[in-house]
Amino acid sequence: MYKPGITLLLATLFVGISLFGKSNSPQGSCFSLNASDFQKTVNGKQIGLYFLKNGQLEVAITNYGARIVSLCAPSRTGEMADVVVGFKSIDDYLKAKGTYHGAIIGRVAGRIAGGKFDLNGATFSLPLNSPPNHLHGGVNGFHNQVWDVSAVTDTSIVLTYLSVDGEMGYPGNLNVKATYILNSKNELSMELAATTNKNTPLNLTNHAFFNLAGEGSGTILNHILTIPAQYICPVSAGKIPTGKLMSVKNTPFDFRKPKPIGKDLGLEKTEEQLKFAGGYDHHFVLNKKKCNVMKLAAAVTDPQSGRKMEVFTDEPCIHFFSANFFNGADLDKGNRPIQFRESFALETQRFPLLPDNKSFPSITLNPGETYKAKTVYRFSVVK
Ligand code: BGC
Repeated sequence: MYKPGITLLLATLFVGISLFGKSNSPQGSCFSLNASDFQKTVNGKQIGLYFLKNGQLEVAITNYGARIVSLCAPSRTGEMADVVVGFKSIDDYLKAKGTYHGAIIGRVAGRIAGGKFDLNGATFSLPLNSPPNHLHGGVNGFHNQVWDVSAVTDTSIVLTYLSVDGEMGYPGNLNVKATYILNSKNELSMELAATTNKNTPLNLTNHAFFNLAGEGSGTILNHILTIPAQYICPVSAGKIPTGKLMSVKNTPFDFRKPKPIGKDLGLEKTEEQLKFAGGYDHHFVLNKKKCNVMKLAAAVTDPQSGRKMEVFTDEPCIHFFSANFFNGADLDKGNRPIQFRESFALETQRFPLLPDNKSFPSITLNPGETYKAKTVYRFSVVK
């Protein structure tokens, strides 16, 4: 029997779901995410899931933490795989032990010793969410905020967030904008911009974990990595940058020629820097001085599938993290436990912030200036 009321209700529901993230994964997509699994209101703001597609690449992004949830790329035989480690619903993101997956990190990526920094003669104290230090902007950093969706098309999304004066201990009202664009050349670009009304340190990055063989397909130790960096920022025990630079020559940190990620990880019991960080968890320096020019920051290949990812950036550093802490506590999108060294992060960013705010090039953003950073993830295949 025809029931106009029910039809109207269903139509309204359908339009509602479509508006928040274009319903489900596009047809034929390699991921099977449901936008409805990401619909939730947190702190009065609506969370959704958005699908972008261009050329061969497909990406899913949520405005919760401006996160990359999925990225599908073809292998040398054309097989699509989701190469980003993430979760299948907003509830999984909210309860996860690993809290940074795919997110924009801010205000300041990395660890700040004792959660203290000097600025304009004052000392600021930040919450110690990784005791005794402050990590990745604090427990309610940008990764845990619901961003506003300012614009969305089939190939791009613009997300904005207002971080208010004093939030997580940082000074100034900060307006942040993250733009993700997929082009037809198999590139995902991420442009970050910000302005402030008070001097504030700022160092944004994206914290996606990748596995080029596909999420949940085992370790990344045989992925071949190149990082054209002559220096790293060494750390002390506790993973705090010392403020010095260390040459990579004759160390496990020399990735200037392509090398399997796992090749020198066996030295982690004896090599001090690997020991302090529990593996690779370091800034690699691409430019000692500010230079704002797009350059290759890293290239990674999975020999098995042939998938290759190159990372280009105008930032001076890239932080390489070999996923040293995962222990299966969280389940990925395919319900597989997320394990030790089954993914890697390559986080383009600025130099670390030291409490004296002196040893490295300044990351202070001043009123009247615009923070800008661009990173491009390019996907291709090798034979
Ligand atoms: C940091 C690690 C941290 C991890 C959390 C990385 O960027 O360098 O030390 O534990 O993020 O996912």
